[in-house]
Amino acid sequence: MTNQIRALYERAIAHFGEGTQLLKAMEESGELVQAVAKYTALPVPAMSDAEAEHAKQTINHLAEEIADVRIMLDQLEMIADCHDKVGRWKWKKIRRLRERIEEDEAHG
Ligand SMILES: [Mg+2]
Repeated sequence: MTNQIRALYERAIAHFGEGTQLLKAMEESGELVQAVAKYTALPVPAMSDAEAEHAKQTINHLAEEIADVRIMLDQLEMIADCHDKVGRWKWKKIRRLRERIEEDEAHG
């Protein structure tokens, strides 16, 4: 995160308040869940021009919601002062993911 973006998030938290930004984080998380659900319901492959257009809009909406959640996750880490913990958990989870894949591959 750049210093400019961090400063903007600090302003947002000061301006709107922590409580409002926490509610916003929950709201955006819910919107992402809905966007993923719509994405999973897309017909693959698209059968018509209308379906192809619908898929394009659905993917664009998913991208928007991913961006919204990333922005709110950054602010959530700042509010809870847990950036380093998140980093450690992330690497732990990534290692666990790799181990699960390797175990599955080893056992067919
Ligand atoms: Mg949103």
